Amino acid sequence: MRGWHVLLWRGLLLALAISLGISPAHAQTRLNVVASFSILGDFVKNVGGDRVAVTTLVGPDGDVHVYTPTPSDVRKIADAKLLVINGFGLEGWLPRLLQAAGNRASIVTATSGITPLKAGSDADPHAWQSVANAERYIANIRDALISADPPDADHFRQNAVAYLAKLEALDAEVRQAVGKIPENRRRVISTHDAFGYFAARYGIQFIAPVGVSTEAEPSARDVAKIIAQVKAERIPAVFLERIGDPRLMQRISVETGARVGGTLYSDALTDEKGDSPTYIDMVRHNIRTLTSALAN
Ligand code: ZN
Repeated sequence: MRGWHVLLWRGLLLALAISLGISPAHAQTRLNVVASFSILGDFVKNVGGDRVAVTTLVGPDGDVHVYTPTPSDVRKIADAKLLVINGFGLEGWLPRLLQAAGNRASIVTATSGITPLKAGSDADPHAWQSVANAERYIANIRDALISADPPDADHFRQNAVAYLAKLEALDAEVRQAVGKIPENRRRVISTHDAFGYFAARYGIQFIAPVGVSTEAEPSARDVAKIIAQVKAERIPAVFLERIGDPRLMQRISVETGARVGGTLYSDALTDEKGDSPTYIDMVRHNIRTLTSALAN
């Protein structure tokens, strides 16, 4: 009779614990993480899984080069435990925002440990366009999440291992796809200079009338120079980007006969309804667009 009572009590206590949402491990409060732009937000989601709540400052289709922070960004940063940024000068608008938010979050620079390519005297910020670099981003984000939330370290490590395996397969996929493009056709024009790291890793030459930031407008002389180059070198295709002004590329296409090969995604993901809501989708979209325009 006594033993039966103990069992009943244990059962009741367990039911109570479940109804209160107390798990046998530790109480689940999700780590508040802010990422500066959509691509980093996707990386944090993949490593953090259900243990983090991710918000981004520059959302889908946003231009991180020319962003103007909003009052809601101040609130997001004030609530964050961890802030993930790209670095290499990409988030020029960030210092003032941090000051306005009275920031107390830890900041991790996702490009930490990557040797920057130079664009003039500045670092080219678009390091994520090499999948090998994206793997470094993931390692940095994993380590930062572990420091911010040590009890969930195993969870973050496991997620990182799984996602890194996907990135390694993706890197091989890109190399294989570029390998199928005839070598003399691996040259394209893109709107702004966002593909330097992609070019360096995979061997497609990108020429852009706009510099590494979308802030600067190309001069008439720059455009004339590019038009002459496209004609002289018989560059097969020009590409639009989701961010920035498409008219310049259309003009270069009309004046040179180079075809408009499609739209490349450089600095932002699409929203869930678009065709590139994740980094892996974005890289696949770009490689499909490039190969279909450049194949003979
Ligand atoms: Zn850019």
